[in-house]
Amino acid sequence: MLTVGVDIGGTSVRAGVVDKRGTILDTARVGTPSGADALNDAIVSVISSLTARHTISAVGLAVAGFVATDLKTVMFAPHLAWRRAAVAERISRKIDLPVVLEHDANAAALAEFRYGAARGAKVVTLIAIGTGIGAGLLLDGKIFRGAYGVAPELGHLRIVPNGRPCSCGKSGCWERYCSGTALSATAIELLAGHPGQSTVLAREAAGDARSITGRKVAGAARDGDPVALRAMAELARWLGEGLALVADIYDPEVIVIAGGVSESAPLFLDDAREIYRDAVTGAGYRPLARIRTAQLGDDAGLVGAAALARDVVNGHH
Ligand SMILES: [Zn+2]
Repeated sequence: MLTVGVDIGGTSVRAGVVDKRGTILDTARVGTPSGADALNDAIVSVISSLTARHTISAVGLAVAGFVATDLKTVMFAPHLAWRRAAVAERISRKIDLPVVLEHDANAAALAEFRYGAARGAKVVTLIAIGTGIGAGLLLDGKIFRGAYGVAPELGHLRIVPNGRPCSCGKSGCWERYCSGTALSATAIELLAGHPGQSTVLAREAAGDARSITGRKVAGAARDGDPVALRAMAELARWLGEGLALVADIYDPEVIVIAGGVSESAPLFLDDAREIYRDAVTGAGYRPLARIRTAQLGDDAGLVGAAALARDVVNGHH
């Protein structure tokens, strides 16, 4: 049996045909359009291009947003056009296949549990560090969604009282200190506090401070730029502090670090582990979660959504 997984991100809609071992056999992608109807049409078109070439049993959509516990409705997706949208029903009618929705971080956590870095672990937390933080939680291999489908929204835990303002309306949220966006903000703060430092980043900022992206900070840190390395150390600190909170709440067996920023893990993960080890409650007297980087990369959401669609067909959901 083959299923299709679709990852619906802010910039592209990527679909893949996935087998029971989590292997992607074929893919299709289009840019993400802005309107709700155009988005539905784009999803139908990528799925149809794959169902034309393969016999598919069901489709899973990984969505960057709140999915209701019926796994059919998108309640809210900050970077997509859907608001209280009956997405599964609309797509299903057009392609004549069962469709299930899942939050992208939950889907990624499921994929890492079945096929990747968290294989077989009893309690898994996935922290996807990109523009912000996405989080997924698995208990005994099952996705934990909370009572209303919103859990776990870890990126907006307040970690710094009166800290940096967040787009969610609060301030001091974890993702304001531990994300690609945070790397950029920290580097810009450091440069402003120490004018005259002749570093690669300072020269970059002289043109336009906004051009300092998280990716550029990571690149400069790799080249030994002192400001970039300090920004990385700050990220490691807040990652470690945040992971200690996560461990206090969930006591996970494995924590998977995913997302674009995880590609720079050699620059911060060992430091973050050390801070986490010291900050967790009962440090030294409890077994600690293993912290690993994701194995499935960008494909995790797609593969997890396809696995969930398989479960639905098999009656495991
Ligand atoms: Zn927030």
